[in-house]
Amino acid sequence: MSKYIFVTGGVVSSVGKGITVAATGALLRSRGVSVSVVKLDPYFNVDPGTISPYQHGEVFVTQDGAETDLDLGHYERFIGVDLGAEANATSGGIYSRVLAKERAGEFHGSTIRVVPHVTDEIKQSFVKVSEESGADVVVVEIGGTVGDIEGRPFLEAIRQMRQEIGRDNVLYVHVTFLPYLAATRELKTKPTQHSVNELRSLGVQPDIIVCRSDYPIPDSIKGKVSLFCDVAREAVIALPTVSNIYEVPLVLENEGLGRLVVNMLRIKAQDADLTRWQDLVDRIRSCREPVNIALVGKYVELKDTYLSVREALQHAVLFHNRDINLSWVHSEDLERGHAEELLRSAQGIVVPGGFGVRGIEGMVKAAAYARESRIPYLGLCLGLHVMVIEFARHVFGTPDVNSTEFDSDTAYPVIDFLPGQQTITQKGGTMRLGAYPCRVVPGTKAARAYGCDIVYERHRHRYEFNNAFRGALEEAGLIASGQSPSGDMVEIVELREHPWMVSCQFHPEFRSRPQCPHPLFRDFIGAAKETLVEGSQASLPIP
Ligand code: GLN
Repeated sequence: MSKYIFVTGGVVSSVGKGITVAATGALLRSRGVSVSVVKLDPYFNVDPGTISPYQHGEVFVTQDGAETDLDLGHYERFIGVDLGAEANATSGGIYSRVLAKERAGEFHGSTIRVVPHVTDEIKQSFVKVSEESGADVVVVEIGGTVGDIEGRPFLEAIRQMRQEIGRDNVLYVHVTFLPYLAATRELKTKPTQHSVNELRSLGVQPDIIVCRSDYPIPDSIKGKVSLFCDVAREAVIALPTVSNIYEVPLVLENEGLGRLVVNMLRIKAQDADLTRWQDLVDRIRSCREPVNIALVGKYVELKDTYLSVREALQHAVLFHNRDINLSWVHSEDLERGHAEELLRSAQGIVVPGGFGVRGIEGMVKAAAYARESRIPYLGLCLGLHVMVIEFARHVFGTPDVNSTEFDSDTAYPVIDFLPGQQTITQKGGTMRLGAYPCRVVPGTKAARAYGCDIVYERHRHRYEFNNAFRGALEEAGLIASGQSPSGDMVEIVELREHPWMVSCQFHPEFRSRPQCPHPLFRDFIGAAKETLVEGSQASLPIP
């Protein structure tokens, strides 16, 4: 049986709970303890796949095709595990299962209630992960903030666990925020005290409190939190804001979190080996020349929408011992202005995933600029559609080329519905989702990047390259450098006459890891760093 760490959040959302969970998992892994992770989201959507990127940020796709919370990306990157659909449960999913069981008569005449039926289903969601993973420790993050009305059944479920499996097997961690008052120049603990009081009123006494803050946390403040919240002095962990999230495991280790957790849970563990993390952080901190990358999307106001893309770029620049100078270019701004003005300094252009027609013409402009100016280009899913549309407009000599997602009457539908998608009316969970094999064509840039024949990559789309135009476009210099094993689906395209213009129908960003960048991102940055644009030349050593 696994032991459990339940992590709740206090005071404000977006406090860094997901990264704290991921980093705690990394500390356990560094001690030879096996870890799995679950994110419980109290909202009522069955999964985040139907939520606007502006409200939810990125939808992270797992190997087995679940559309999940972006925190799963942090978990995979920090802990180095591939998680499955069961690693993310929402109120929507939990209540749906309870109601399906009720309709099937599985409750044998009982009146269905939050306690025990909903709470049992919640517990089932993480017990299943424990059974399937066999992990020594399952870390369970409860989304939202203590006090949210939707969160109460989740807090009740985790409360019951300590009774059921005993003190040594359950740990409660509360991640909270200490606001800073400029007038008195001090960090305030009162909101944390209130949050812990609320948690206690529901029967959960935290064992560890992780205090997030934008300022260093003095010992006196830690003492105050310890006294008022009734946790041991060494169990108040300071987590001030750091410049790079990959520093968090080291900060938490320095604060003693790893040792504290294994002691409190009475786990036999090895000494921590954090050399990998130390190495990574040393490399991040060392001063390096930046590569200028432009990310052209339409949700750029909310950077979390492209979280995994941003991380994958960071992993790739580190591989090349470079820094990144990332500019976020709104594709609608490109529609209004000149591509040259907004992209002049870019040594590489990324067009990431997205849905709907808004901003598409701006992305097409970016692809045209990359092709004509021979700037490295990486297209991710929608970015492939955009690259193919732009190239086909150039080859066929007409602007009436499109994806049927944006213009159902276009003369040249170079991107069209995947087989079977046209008749689907249900929105949630109905795209082509999860990992599929892709055969990489020898002698291409894609093959050079991957160095192997078959790769498995994660998808999330309804539209694909239309084979009716494959011959004509191939003749004009487009290479279908990745294909489904049967050869009938185009999964990667690249341009023959270009230094590096490669797009994929899948989302490679989900598989990139800090110590192991994704091959396509790695080679994209490799090409970008060699690109000379205005402002990218190193200054000459002239006195
Ligand atoms: N909107 C496109 C499709 O559904 C691309 C999706 C994406 O970028 N993930 O096929």
